[in-house]
Amino acid sequence: MPEMSTAEDRLLTGWGRTSPSRAALTRPRDVDELASVLSSSRRGTPVIARGLGRSYGDASQCGGGIVVDLSAFNEIGPVDRDSGLIEVGAGASLQSIMAATVPEGWFVPVTPGTRQVTVGGAIASDIHGKNHHRDGSFCSHVAKMTLVTPTGTHELSEELDPELFWATAGGMGLTGITTTATVEMIPIETSYISVDEERFEDVDSLMAEMRRSDSNYHYSVAWVDCMTRRGGLGRSILTRGEHARRRDLPTAKRSEPLVAPVQARLRVPFRAPNGLLNAATISAFNELWFKKAPRKKSGAIHSLSSFFHPLDGIADWNLLYGSRGFLQYQFAVGDDHEDCVKSAIELLSSHKVPSFLAVLKRFGQGDPGPLSFPIKGWTLALDLPVGPRQLPSVLDELDSLVVGAGGRVYLAKDSRLRPDLLAAMYPRVTEFEEVCRRVDPDGLLNSDLSRRLGIRHPGATWRE
Ligand SMILES: Cc1cc2nc3c(=O)[nH]c(=O)nc-3n(C[C@H](O)[C@H](O)[C@H](O)COP(=O)(O)OP(=O)(O)OC[C@H]3O[C@@H](n4cnc5c(N)ncnc54)[C@H](O)[C@@H]3O)c2cc1C
Repeated sequence: MPEMSTAEDRLLTGWGRTSPSRAALTRPRDVDELASVLSSSRRGTPVIARGLGRSYGDASQCGGGIVVDLSAFNEIGPVDRDSGLIEVGAGASLQSIMAATVPEGWFVPVTPGTRQVTVGGAIASDIHGKNHHRDGSFCSHVAKMTLVTPTGTHELSEELDPELFWATAGGMGLTGITTTATVEMIPIETSYISVDEERFEDVDSLMAEMRRSDSNYHYSVAWVDCMTRRGGLGRSILTRGEHARRRDLPTAKRSEPLVAPVQARLRVPFRAPNGLLNAATISAFNELWFKKAPRKKSGAIHSLSSFFHPLDGIADWNLLYGSRGFLQYQFAVGDDHEDCVKSAIELLSSHKVPSFLAVLKRFGQGDPGPLSFPIKGWTLALDLPVGPRQLPSVLDELDSLVVGAGGRVYLAKDSRLRPDLLAAMYPRVTEFEEVCRRVDPDGLLNSDLSRRLGIRHPGATWRE
């Protein structure tokens, strides 16, 4: 078990490695030590929880304050065979949960594009996966959780305290610190996915197909090339899948159908220069990637890792963006505004802003949480290296497009949104703040993100 830190002075960043800030990082070993961290913060020092730091921006940073590392809260209980429920510590990673449960035939109900996130982080961002159109986001599968706040400990469920439960779902750690959660797992026969893949020459035909038939699949995701207009805007690869049954597997795999995903063994072997991922290298990669994909193929068998978490194969791939780092711009818009997706791709393509990964998904109904990100419709996520001169103005234009379409950006990915746009994107933010005040009247829980956006900050521009 990790030692309780006498707090360690640390420079912290998110996964994008932009906007570092210095804080006292502390690692409580149990609830008593956690409570004493919160009571020392009662003297006025701000505090925020941190999981594995996979949010891209500044959500798990608290410059000048205390950052609480939950890694000691990593216990993983057994899965109840009748209900599928598992009780886990909020510091347990999805990687470690899968390592324990996949061999027993259970899988997490929602997984993001990396297994290296904690349950606490998954709840605080109310994360979504490739199955949102069908299963909703993570907190729809959380039966209960324990939340420690400056005014006490709360056992939460949707029935016991729906207001605080849903404010915590997607609440970016601002309602308190989650210590345990009970999550509904799903049964699987194998640790493989049966995958259908299809190439599209433009984004119109891609979106038409997703609209037409995504509901037939458990999982769906599309990779979109935002760099080329040849043959139409946004050529793309649509990848959809189902959990494979044992009889779907090739004979060689049938004797061991349930294999746990393993931790990455590779690391980036050199110090990447700034600009390694630029318009030219990304265009070349996109060309290869598109050509490599089959025009149409059904029933290919993929491992869980290669289907859900291909980037986890290299532990520190974010270093490839160089010392300037990168940001992710992810937005969601409703079904009526799918033109916004096309306009966003057009904007990047016409300004030659390189995006290494552009991922399009369908969203189903959103959760009731006032800050939970998904809204029924579309979501596009773009990985963008910091560096190109035109990037800030293109992002401002993207913001205007998204706000104009009644959409929003994902706070777990954000590092640069203007505070005056927050209330337009999250119109229930004042309702969220009221719930925070109930459990944290002195506003001790805050982060670089909440201060930047003016959440719980009386001088915030969006209040004017
Ligand atoms: C490669 C990659 C792919 C991704 N793909 C997706 C995706 O497909 N879908 C998606 O939804 N997200 C995705 N994400 C984002 C990621 O799922 C979220 O940012 C998630 O919150 C990260 O979890 P973490 O444990 O690293 O938390 P951190 O990044 O450390 O913290 C994130 C937030 O959670 C809060 N928090 C953490 N632990 C606790 C706790 N115990 N109690 C209260 N608050 C807490 C923090 O205060 C902070 O506000 C991806 C990220 C990466 C790097």
